Amino acid sequence: MALIVQKFGGTSVGDVERIRNVARRVVKTREQGHDVVVIVSAMGGETDGLVALARAMSSDPDPREYDVLVSTGEQKTIALLSMAIHGLGCSARSMTGAQLGMRTDSDHTRARILDIDAARVRATLDGGSVVVVAGFQGTDEAGNITTLGRGGSDTSAVAVAAALEADVCEIYTDVDGVFTADPHMVPTARKLARISYDEMLEMASLGAKVLQIRAVKFGKRYGVPIHVRSSFHEGEGTWVVQEEDVMERLVVSGVTYNRDEAKVTLFGVPDQPGVASRLFVPLSEAGVVVDVIVQNVSSQGHTDITFTCARGDLNRALPIVEKVRAELDAAGVTSDDSITKVSVVGLGMKDHAGVASRMFRVLSDEGINIQMINTSEIKISVVVGERYTELACRALHDAFGLADQDATEEAH
Ligand code: ADP
Ligand code: ASP
Ligand code: MG
Repeated sequence: MALIVQKFGGTSVGDVERIRNVARRVVKTREQGHDVVVIVSAMGGETDGLVALARAMSSDPDPREYDVLVSTGEQKTIALLSMAIHGLGCSARSMTGAQLGMRTDSDHTRARILDIDAARVRATLDGGSVVVVAGFQGTDEAGNITTLGRGGSDTSAVAVAAALEADVCEIYTDVDGVFTADPHMVPTARKLARISYDEMLEMASLGAKVLQIRAVKFGKRYGVPIHVRSSFHEGEGTWVVQEEDVMERLVVSGVTYNRDEAKVTLFGVPDQPGVASRLFVPLSEAGVVVDVIVQNVSSQGHTDITFTCARGDLNRALPIVEKVRAELDAAGVTSDDSITKVSVVGLGMKDHAGVASRMFRVLSDEGINIQMINTSEIKISVVVGERYTELACRALHDAFGLADQDATEEAH
């Protein structure tokens, strides 16, 4: 008998019929003699709707109340799924984050999990019930409801699996596993049988939302085997595992994109010590997470600084940048929120030269202008106009030989 954690995302619990399907799957696992803890997301679109409601009420919603509101989506799903499981003659008990003892810090809207009261879940499992847990939510020390950031149910699931020392954490979603690129963007994307935690971390941080990055961090830290698979059929998905357990060695293992970015440029800044900190310290203090930064070579004692941040942070960033512009007597500020960061990722890039030049040539052949470049040992990212997202992803995916041969043949 194993202890299995199963997480079902928004599409998988999108309506009553799909919730019934999930219940059948859970009960089947239970009937095979396993203990089952299920983590669920809000029904598809529900969280977006709640976020829109909060924004309709206030342009800058109070973070504590935002969390009280957006955490309600998951509470509906745990009740409905538990009812569906009961309907199949199986015992199930729903638990909110608070009931589970999912304790987090107080950083509302993006809280971090501190610890989980595994004893409460174990007692319910020992009583013969399936435990149905609301993902994405916890409570801080003072009992305030917190949420874990968009996509946070993945993290709830892997953290619960780690706390219970579960045999596997199954992430059921609307695609068949982790692909070489978003299969909804690149039709020839190929499913990977295995991917290392490190590569998955990089892909998740660069926009592959199939797993939230913090879920992968938990998985790596506690050695939780993660199996990303389809909620619509029983086929094998992708295993996220230690690097030595990955058979396939590719220089580039994936192409990712992140549309959730905006670009800000501060022109004509005096080129002198302390300027970068004058700009980036207040941004960081305001909670703006800055991503790519480029500073030009100075000309006649002046330079330009360009950076990207999350699109949702742009309205908070601009007044700060404008204030710094005035203080430094810089020439001007511009911003653009129709950009995308496209990246190629691969642990194999450490030992291979020429990936960057190839990437730039491919984009140039497609007539795509590169606005910014950012590299590390295992990834190269470029910022391009948002309208080129699909073209850039497809061209790079094909150029680096990632295409699924069967899918390519079918397409011809
Ligand atoms: P869930 O609601 O199940 O959590 P998400 O929408 O959060 O599902 O994540 C699954 C989506 O991630 C897929 O529908 C797919 O469009 C997207 N995705 C992006 N990159 C990848 C990738 N490399 N492999 C698989 N899916 C990806
Ligand atoms: N419902 C939350 C969201 O849409 C959490 C999750 O689905 O993982 O972001
Ligand atoms: Mg998700």
